[in-house]
Amino acid sequence: MKDNVLKKEFSKKDVQRARNLITGNTGARTTEGIGYTKKYEHHKEGDIWEEDGRKWTIKNGLKQNVTKMDKFKKMGKLPLFCPECNTLMKKNLDKKVFPAYQKCFDCVVDYETQLKKEGKLEEFHTQLRNGHIQSAIDGYTEFMKDQMKQSNANYVTEAGDVEEWKGGKSKEELERELQEGIEYLEGLKIK
Ligand SMILES: [Zn+2]
Repeated sequence: MKDNVLKKEFSKKDVQRARNLITGNTGARTTEGIGYTKKYEHHKEGDIWEEDGRKWTIKNGLKQNVTKMDKFKKMGKLPLFCPECNTLMKKNLDKKVFPAYQKCFDCVVDYETQLKKEGKLEEFHTQLRNGHIQSAIDGYTEFMKDQMKQSNANYVTEAGDVEEWKGGKSKEELERELQEGIEYLEGLKIK
């Protein structure tokens, strides 16, 4: 009796192992009940998790690197004092002009008045606008290159499921999209 039970168990495992070999699932456990490999990890909007030693989150349905987002947030941070006149920056207008001018609102007014006197204001505004567009191009390029890197490994669906890259956008499609995006933004520059 005992012999029979052992034989039965053994053959059952053998069958399962053979099945796994056929389906290419060689790493799977052969014991019934736990004989499956976890394929999808579920992550939803706002989750933060670690993968390959980096922190990730899902924002607007897209998988994004947390460290990189923190860096961008810091770049837009307003310092306490204006680097030009050293006065405390507290006005809403200071907050508005600082990212583009790197100085407080009063300093911007002084600076533009001076430029106007010299007849250089228009040229300055053109440079400012084109500079903004260029930084948008740089940010967009970096984002798309990141997406291309990920497109080889895995892909996060809008529902937040991590899936192997199948039927999604290929590297070539993303490359084409990137080129079109750059061309569009370049077209907005004042020549
Ligand atoms: Zn100032």
